[in-house]
Amino acid sequence: MSDREFANTFPDYAGEKLLNAQGKIADDLRKQLQSEIDRQLQRLYEGLASTDPSDYSIYTGSTGIALLHFHLSNIFDHDENPRYLKRALSYVEHPLRHLKRKKATFLCGDAGPLALAAVLYHRIGHQDKCEDCLNRLFSRHKDVSSDHVDLPDEFLFGRVGYLFALLFVQRHLGKEYVNPDLISEVFRTIISSGKKLAQRERSECPLMYAWHDKEYLGAAHGLVGIFYTLMLVEDPVYKNVLRELVKPSIDWLMTLRYQSGNYPSSIGSTTDKLVHWCHGAPGWVHMFAQAYKTFGDVKYLEAARGCGEVVWRRGLLRKGYGICHGVAGNAYTFLTVYRLTGDEKYLYRAYKFAEWCFDYGKHGCRTPDRPLSLFEGLAGTIYFLADLLHPADAKFPAFQL
Ligand SMILES: [Zn+2]
Repeated sequence: MSDREFANTFPDYAGEKLLNAQGKIADDLRKQLQSEIDRQLQRLYEGLASTDPSDYSIYTGSTGIALLHFHLSNIFDHDENPRYLKRALSYVEHPLRHLKRKKATFLCGDAGPLALAAVLYHRIGHQDKCEDCLNRLFSRHKDVSSDHVDLPDEFLFGRVGYLFALLFVQRHLGKEYVNPDLISEVFRTIISSGKKLAQRERSECPLMYAWHDKEYLGAAHGLVGIFYTLMLVEDPVYKNVLRELVKPSIDWLMTLRYQSGNYPSSIGSTTDKLVHWCHGAPGWVHMFAQAYKTFGDVKYLEAARGCGEVVWRRGLLRKGYGICHGVAGNAYTFLTVYRLTGDEKYLYRAYKFAEWCFDYGKHGCRTPDRPLSLFEGLAGTIYFLADLLHPADAKFPAFQL
């Protein structure tokens, strides 16, 4: 046990059956999850009245609450009364009128509300409003396609955060909704930015990126989030670029692994402390899983499994139960490896982390700054619990497609 995490005293997997004969989550577990989701949703609604209305980000603001409700709608809504879908829209309509035009990313900028609202309006049959949101979203591409040196490339505030919004629209509305030239322009700008810094620094890694002059590595601010998102672009046009530049970059990153199996948060960091989605193995696992799908090399699958071991040992964080740097986000490590391998050990581990989240607030963890939000707080935990009802489809919110 350290000052960062609690000791994991759960017994490890010993052949427990979590699925029924139809391959669905077993009835008793489903009921338990359902009642926890209801209980925690109630807590969320009670607290939401006192949150900051000017924060509209997916990361900590109202669009994050909207994204949770879109997720609940996909799981629970019936066509005759899409109540979660309507609630989702109610959380995003205010932001749409008050966008600040400061950042263009999915998680922290205008692209999140615009992309999500487009999908929600489409679902509810308001095609004109959907088109309006899409036009506003696409009009921001010039902000990220220029080679502006000040503009970062990372996921939270940079170019891949905008690229992800385009891919999110494609995923939910169809490829024909996004002009491939937009994707191409952003993709190429990111590659060119990475090549330039790598050459300038004579880096062994063919693509290098920095945020605030520091070469971060994790999913939120670093190379892992960038390479992961680039691999999500499935168009065969990019196959060679991925193989010639992204793959060797990932191979280079693999050499930075700590003895413990965890990975550093930035280049040169030797303090093996952070086991979060934003910094460390719980973010890297998504890059490895995607690399396995994209390139088919089994070493990436093994690397993903390795992340599953570190997170099992060190993933019960004192920082809380959230998605970005909390237990729910860490549990997606197991769900990702489970989806990749079908190995129930990982589903079991995810379920144990869910049980930890059932005792939300009782372990003496730090209270996050935005305790109800999707990425720091309760909304993210609920998102994760709902994903466990259909673990074969579970996806880390606003990151996996
Ligand atoms: Zn974090």
